[in-house]
Amino acid sequence: MDTNSYSNDPGHVIEADRAHVWHHLSQNKVYEKIDPRIIVEGKGLKVWDITGKEYLDAVSGGVWTTNVGYGRERIGKAVGDAITKMCFFSGGAGTIPGANFAKMLIEKMPGLDRVYYANSGSEANEKAFKMVRQISHKHYGGKKYKILYRDRDYHGTTLGALSAGGQDERNAQYGPFAPGFVRVPHCLEYRSENGLTGEAYGAAAAQAIEDVILREGADTVGALCLEPITAGGGIIVPPKGYWDRVQEICKKYNILLHIDEVVCGIGRTGTWFGYQQFGVQPDIVTMAKGVASGYAAISCCVTTNAVFDQFKDDTDKMSYFRDISTFGGCTGGPAAAIENMKIVEEEDLLGNSAAMGDHLKGNLHGLMEQHKWIGDVRGMGLFAGIELVTDRSTKEPVGEPQIAAIVADCIAQGVMIGAANRSVPGYNNSLLFAPALVATKDDLNNITEAVGQAIKRVLG
Ligand code: PLP
Repeated sequence: MDTNSYSNDPGHVIEADRAHVWHHLSQNKVYEKIDPRIIVEGKGLKVWDITGKEYLDAVSGGVWTTNVGYGRERIGKAVGDAITKMCFFSGGAGTIPGANFAKMLIEKMPGLDRVYYANSGSEANEKAFKMVRQISHKHYGGKKYKILYRDRDYHGTTLGALSAGGQDERNAQYGPFAPGFVRVPHCLEYRSENGLTGEAYGAAAAQAIEDVILREGADTVGALCLEPITAGGGIIVPPKGYWDRVQEICKKYNILLHIDEVVCGIGRTGTWFGYQQFGVQPDIVTMAKGVASGYAAISCCVTTNAVFDQFKDDTDKMSYFRDISTFGGCTGGPAAAIENMKIVEEEDLLGNSAAMGDHLKGNLHGLMEQHKWIGDVRGMGLFAGIELVTDRSTKEPVGEPQIAAIVADCIAQGVMIGAANRSVPGYNNSLLFAPALVATKDDLNNITEAVGQAIKRVLG
């Protein structure tokens, strides 16, 4: 072994990263000119990079994941204990952490019954899509195979999940995609194309889904897959009445309702799951990021027994779900998820997400009064966004270079914020906030103060 190949020395790490790491979702050419940022430590909402610079992280690890915050020793210990005793077993056998977390999770999800383990949000969604397809073959002669997804929603990076991708910039150049995925319109009231608002807009946006179902033929549609609140597509909280109507439509046409809670799950909006804010009852729920807050890789595809039971037939050797995730058998994921869930309960992080979410929204409305560039403030719990426009009356979006400059200005001030970039061409003009659920008023005041200064410096 080359003894020089491993070192924590900053110069060594930065050069090793620059030479060999391919960074996610980045134009890696920039690292020929600037040093890649290496994050080395975290506590609560704060992180430190390898040069010692401190940041307030308003995006929970870049992609809304570290719901319980950084530096939770008890999660580290739980993972260590679990993997030392029994690191992994799969292929039909269960594990103690896997069984225990499934029971805890189902207690938070009345009406749902079964947990299928995987490793990423994309993968959990793939499982759901495969379940829908297999149900179609087994029970509907292969006819009820179509999966509807919504403009601006995102369900992951794999080719199946991208086939259900409503963000054109993420999809471009990766086609052709899987057949049988059909897009329905978004439900962003601020960008309403019919001039309707409030409940009338909600009803029209839901009606647009029914129109697609009728156009495609209801007997060909197996499932509708939606984010409870569109995340990367611009923090879109559906209008009043939308979800009630969506539920009715699914029931009317015998269509499974699959809700993608990869971002909203585990407290992000102030309830355990985003769908619980709207009183809907899904058939399938997928989740990932906040399940173990990034302390281990775990995702879940949760179903009702009504879905599960359709795979139970010992007279048909093809009827079982012929699917596996090797690492769905790792014990570190559920061990971390158990501890993560206990922390959310013991520290009332649902309550904090709701209360601090109100504070954050209040701050953002305050910013809107000061800056004419803010056209809309949206969000629920500690999940919020502002849409920046050049003119409130025309709603012309602020350009991507300015959005990038605002994000960079915040980073220079030591505050990490997100942007709805690389998703909807021309409309990547929202700034996104999803701090850990332990955020305090002071944290949120510091975040919004930095954003205000950045907007002023970049846009005037
Ligand atoms: N679903 C939603 C709503 C997401 O935002 C994401 C990722 O950001 C995914 C699915 C994919 O999750 P993963 O990156 O873990 O595959």
